[in-house]
Amino acid sequence: MIGTADPIIEKMRVYHSAVDSRRLTRAFEFGKRAHHGQSRASGEPYFTHPVAVANILADMRLDEDTIITALLHDTVEDCDVTLGALDSEFGGDVAQLVDGVTKLSRLAIKSLPSSAQAENFRKLLMAMSEDVRVLLVKLADRTHNMRTLSFIPKPEKRMRIARETMDIYAPLAERIGLTQIQGELEESAFEVLNGEMRQSIIMRLEYLTSEAKITIPTISVELQSTIERVGIECSVTGRMKSPYSIWRKMQTKAVTMEQLADIVAFRILVPTLDDCYRALGQLHQQYPTVMGRFKDYVSTPKRNGYQSLHTGILGPQNHRIEVQIRTPEMHHVAEHGVAAHWHYKRANSDYNPPKYKWIQELVGLLDEEAGAEEFFEHTKMDLYHDQVFCFTPRGDLIAMPRGATAVDFAYAVHTQIGETCTGVRINGKTRQLATELQNGDQIEILTQADAKPRAEWESFVKTGRAKSAIRRFTRAQRVTEFSRIGKALIEKTFREHDRPFRTRALERSVSAFGVSRAEEVFALVGEDRLSPLRVLEKLHPDIVIDDRDTRNRTLGQSSQSKLKIKGTNTGTAVTIARCCHPLPGEAIVGIFTTGKGITVHKVGCTTLSKFSDAPELWFDVSWEQDSLRTVNGRLNTVLSNEPGSLASLATVISQQGGNISNIHLTDRTPDFFRFELDLEVKDVEHMRAIIAVLQANKYVESVERGDAE
Ligand code: MN
Repeated sequence: MIGTADPIIEKMRVYHSAVDSRRLTRAFEFGKRAHHGQSRASGEPYFTHPVAVANILADMRLDEDTIITALLHDTVEDCDVTLGALDSEFGGDVAQLVDGVTKLSRLAIKSLPSSAQAENFRKLLMAMSEDVRVLLVKLADRTHNMRTLSFIPKPEKRMRIARETMDIYAPLAERIGLTQIQGELEESAFEVLNGEMRQSIIMRLEYLTSEAKITIPTISVELQSTIERVGIECSVTGRMKSPYSIWRKMQTKAVTMEQLADIVAFRILVPTLDDCYRALGQLHQQYPTVMGRFKDYVSTPKRNGYQSLHTGILGPQNHRIEVQIRTPEMHHVAEHGVAAHWHYKRANSDYNPPKYKWIQELVGLLDEEAGAEEFFEHTKMDLYHDQVFCFTPRGDLIAMPRGATAVDFAYAVHTQIGETCTGVRINGKTRQLATELQNGDQIEILTQADAKPRAEWESFVKTGRAKSAIRRFTRAQRVTEFSRIGKALIEKTFREHDRPFRTRALERSVSAFGVSRAEEVFALVGEDRLSPLRVLEKLHPDIVIDDRDTRNRTLGQSSQSKLKIKGTNTGTAVTIARCCHPLPGEAIVGIFTTGKGITVHKVGCTTLSKFSDAPELWFDVSWEQDSLRTVNGRLNTVLSNEPGSLASLATVISQQGGNISNIHLTDRTPDFFRFELDLEVKDVEHMRAIIAVLQANKYVESVERGDAE
């Protein structure tokens, strides 16, 4: 039976007199309509589930938006309801909360997580929740699903859900202080995962208590009168410890049940904080204490906000018992954790919530005037906002700093994956490697065995691991490239002094330069950290070198000794000049610049005149024959400003096999566009062909090579 919203409204009225019953009724009817015709595994109408979740949260005394969210939490995922519809019906907060719960539901845990993975998964859930109420609804949702777990027909599915509950949701409930929910989740999961063990613990408990003649009501009455004797009002409740908590203690302490100190615990509620300590004093005077059992969580609350005095005594009838002493406020926090603060804030403006260490940032606690909305405004879950958690295709979770990219992820999985990655699919879609990752993304890194890291990755990666690996690689590559230049420089110097250069001769004296290989000497020269004349001097001590003399020598290289230039612009030691964009096939010359290697210009580029007084910097270079792959060239283009002109230009270029890599608009008038067009072409012939076709295009006013500025 679904019924009406009235029981929930009545429950809420107890702690929230201003509850908007019409709004709640509307939400109730809305959810009922949305889930109409759907049913649960139990055969009941589906809407009984959201109603049960709303009731769990109303028992925790949560605010109206949370209860409405509970009623609607499955409508977006399971029905045709949109967030927009929820927004206009119930406001942005409800829409946002439902969206949060939906996102958590969509996270599929593929493999049962290891303990480290489980911790990451809990962090992921917290990071994704943003508003703590999302997490509260999710935990209430899981609580009801566990209550109805026996209706799930497949045993494997029941086991999986129970395992997930035990590993992820129960610890999460503990983390935010929802002790009551935590206990229920643990017990119900324990029953599924290890039902026989649980049953035998229960039977043993019954045996032990009857054997020892422990009668909880008798002990409770005696404790109560003992404390009331010193004028403190109190209420005492006793309970058997839960099978799971006993089992866990047996596991962690490796003891048998008989060795466990106490299997019954008593809770004493007293009106004030002072009374807690006075009641404790009275118990310690009246009964022998058990050594090492006293804990003061009142002056030092637990991380999740829990406050209580704990002690162990040899109490009434000489039974060893555990006693917890606390105020009603502390009790409510102990049961409901973070969910309790909202209620107390509302009820009592003097209420001073316990100082959670971890949740403090989270709650940004309560200034005097703040209302409920502001309170939750401050409960934004920014705890893990400096981290993102993403899945591998196998379902493993990887934690990275916020802002991490696909390349960081690749390196985080394995250095080898990072070094050979060529692309990425995020949630099934092909994306750029620089894409910033979001919580819960599933990342598939594409690799190629012969791929290499690219130096520009270093500018966007966030993790030290990726950064240092990329830097290590580019440094090694730099040595390789600069050593090519260095070797050519040394050969040139030797030739100018009419001496043959042999690498083997250098190999024998490398230690004089503080390195261990000839290649490193080449690199030093290539980076201009060592003069080639010093190398000449070292190998031919007989030569008297006049530094000025070398400046006036002309270039005398034979063509086979020319440094070969690749057509691409990716090297660190060779740069294609931006002023004249030489293309393979064109006559070129290199200019040597300290620390930067060689810049390649077109013969005739006006920039070269700056270097006419420094012939020692000039360097003969030629295009490598097999380098005629794609290269970049620039065209200055003027196009008439009419519809379709740019599209026509793009079409013409692609028909010619060219590729536009960049368009930069430099001027725009009512009649014309003027812009720089960067093209990837095969070589200078290819570029000429494209220019010819462009000149014939009716929209093109003029087009010319983007030579010297
Ligand atoms: Mn649900």
